[in-house]
Amino acid sequence: MKHYEGYLIDLDGTMYRGNEKIDAAPRFIRTLQEKDIPYLFLTNNASLTQKQITEKLNGFDIPARAEDVFSTAIATATFLGRKKKGARCFVIGEEGLHNAFQKEGLEIVQNNADYVVIGLDRHLTYDKLAAACLEIRAGAKFISTNSDLAIPREDGLYPGNGAITAAVSASTGVEPVFVGKPESIIMNEALRIIGTDKSRTIMVGDNYKTDIQAGIRAGLDTLMVFTGISKREDIGNLPDMPTYHVDTLDDWIKKM
Ligand SMILES: [Mg+2]
Repeated sequence: MKHYEGYLIDLDGTMYRGNEKIDAAPRFIRTLQEKDIPYLFLTNNASLTQKQITEKLNGFDIPARAEDVFSTAIATATFLGRKKKGARCFVIGEEGLHNAFQKEGLEIVQNNADYVVIGLDRHLTYDKLAAACLEIRAGAKFISTNSDLAIPREDGLYPGNGAITAAVSASTGVEPVFVGKPESIIMNEALRIIGTDKSRTIMVGDNYKTDIQAGIRAGLDTLMVFTGISKREDIGNLPDMPTYHVDTLDDWIKKM
């Protein structure tokens, strides 16, 4: 097996399952640390800050520092910061997104925006949707952190950021640029941070449609783990197979 110099690692379903621990996950991260292999946690969640995600990981005995976490909030901020330094952004989103934009030196504005950026916002109002539509009609470019239509909660599936984005898209007739998995933008931004070569970096995740597709589209090898959404029986007829698949990350540790 090829030696990988960098790991991009999904969170939910791979490092934990909702509020449940995945036993192999802390062992896997410790193994990477012992072998001095760089890694980044990659999540489509844009509402939490790096610190909040770090605390969640530490709660599952997974060693993590804030700088080990790369979310769509950060990917969107670094992506836009490079496109236009100090860009004026109208933002629908929570603390994670606002925080990442401030750190990147982007200007959060209410009008005359260069970009309208949408991330999950549980305090969404009609006025915010209206302002986003007006800005896009006035020429602002339309960016969305991720296209996830539904997100799992204890009592069922809640509307995800893709659903909020779809409202603005339907009203304006403008399609956004999505940053998160399965798109390549988050992968390319993450590769800049981790600094390892594409050919020596592997994407690890539980969800074929987001994690594995993101890896394949960005030209990375992929490791699919059956501790979350996708099941072993689902991979029978896939057009593009993951490079590797394992039942748990313990099976992978043995090969490292
Ligand atoms: Mg996942």
